Order: sequence, then structure tokens, then C-alpha cells
Amino acid sequence: MKAFPAIAIASGKGGTGKTTVAIHLAALLAAQGRAVQYLDCDVEEPNGHLFLKPKMERSESVGIPVPVVDAAQCTSCGKCAEVCEFNAIAMLKKPLVFPELCHGCGACALVCPVGAIRETSRAIGVVETGRTGTIGFAQGRLNVGEPMAPPLIRAVKARRNPDAIALFDSPPGTSCPVVATVRDADLVVLVTEPTPFGLHDLALAVDTFRPMGKPMGVVVNRADDDRRVQDYCQAENLPVLAELPDDRRVAETYARGELVFDRLPEWRDRFDALWSRIEECL
Ligand code: SF4
Ligand code: SF4
Repeated sequence: MKAFPAIAIASGKGGTGKTTVAIHLAALLAAQGRAVQYLDCDVEEPNGHLFLKPKMERSESVGIPVPVVDAAQCTSCGKCAEVCEFNAIAMLKKPLVFPELCHGCGACALVCPVGAIRETSRAIGVVETGRTGTIGFAQGRLNVGEPMAPPLIRAVKARRNPDAIALFDSPPGTSCPVVATVRDADLVVLVTEPTPFGLHDLALAVDTFRPMGKPMGVVVNRADDDRRVQDYCQAENLPVLAELPDDRRVAETYARGELVFDRLPEWRDRFDALWSRIEECL
């Protein structure tokens, strides 16, 4: 196991308790005296800060480079529109750029034979960094209506402290922002519920991450008598890292924006056991 692994906490759908698991792991590791950093990659709806209540130290704007065409230099050859995989340039008499579709890949500027394209930065959000006690904290906030989450997620992860265990709180689902979060994790912890929807979305997530060759483990949150998730995990050779019981007091504590450990000490043992299982998988 690496001294400071990166662990992504993900889920096939929202509302499974992914952030609860991530913040409590951060609190547990900090209480054990380990160096840990929580990175909220759920940039459309970051909410780990509500519980960890970090003291923010920096806020930095993040932008992506988008092309600007100098119409006087442009010969209307159309090569920039041809090379753009994202249909962010349409050829009329001159190229018309749609900045909100641009992924900032730079290909159009590279192919322009007359150097008529320069780049300017388009702001997509901010990265905020700070601390909660000894826990390092970073989160991204995507501008409202902004579709380009992956570059902001990469900017959050660029603030990773190499001398701390990193916990990436992933967006829910299986789309590009999730892949951007999970890509360089050493382990993916998939949080799910024992419901047909939970099982369905877990299977989608497993199908997404397995081709990436990522080690994975499953946390069954609000576990009850329904064993279909556990049966699926057994069939798929996925370790079940923890079964966290359905406990109304946890939801009440969570609703107050408090850490479960602070109210319910027995939950510390549960997360202790979860971390031991995670270490076995690293
Ligand atoms: S930078 Fe890339 S994505 Fe953006 S317009 Fe140019 S080719 Fe398209
Ligand atoms: S590649 Fe350059 S010259 Fe050709 S249409 Fe685009 S901006 Fe104009």
C-alpha cells in the first residue's frame, strides 16, 4: 500500500450517503493522527463543507482556454471547424465560435495555417482550499449553468497534497465528471443502498469503472434484510467493505450538519472497521 493513497468515494446515483462516508473517513483518519485531505469533486453541488466546516484560506478562479478568431487574418479555410470534435466552431463566411461548447483542447489554434486564432480564458468556476483542524480541504464550485465540470475537477485534484491520504468525494452517476474524479484513484469505494434502484445504479458504476482497471469495494448504506446487493457483489467478486445499518439517528445528526461520531460513538467503530477493510484492498 502507498503511504498516501487516493481513494474515490463514488455512487451510481445521488442520495446514497457517499458524502457521509467520505467526511467520516476524513474525520476518523484525522483523529488517528494521519495526514488526510478531503477533496470535494462534486463541483455542481459540493456539500462536504457543511459538515467539515473548513476555514477557507484561498479561492482561485479556474478557466479554460477558448479560441478567438482574428477575422482580418482568417482566410476562411475551415480547418478549425473541421478539427473541432465538439462542434464548438461553425463555418459561416468566417468561423463562429461557441465558447460554451469548447473543451479548451487547443486543436483549432494548432491547425490554423495563418495563426488567426489566439486563446482567451473563460471562467468556469472556482477552487477553494482550507483546513478543518488537521484535515486538508479543497472543493470546486462550478458556475451556475456551466457544462464543463471535468476541467474544474482536475483543478481541484491538482490541489492534492502528496503527503496526505486523499479522499475524492465524487459526483454521483457514471458520466465524464465521475470518470475525471476516479481516473487516478487507487481504490474506488462505491456507496449504495439495498434497493432495486441502488443495485441497478451500482451495476452501472461497476461497468463504468471496471474497464479502467480500478480496484473497487462496496459500502452498503442503510443496510437491511434485502441481500441482493451483497449477492451481486459476491457474483461480481467485489468486496463488501461495510454494511452500515439504517439508523434514524444518523439522518437526524446529518440533517443538523453534525458528524455522527460526535453524537453516536458506536459509529466510530463502524468507520474504523471500514477503514481497515479499505487498507486491505489497497
Ligand atoms: S479549443 Fe478545441 S474544443 Fe475548443 S473550439 Fe478549438 S478545437 Fe474546439
Ligand atoms: S483555420 Fe484559421 S484561417 Fe482557417 S477558417 Fe479557421 S481561423 Fe480562419
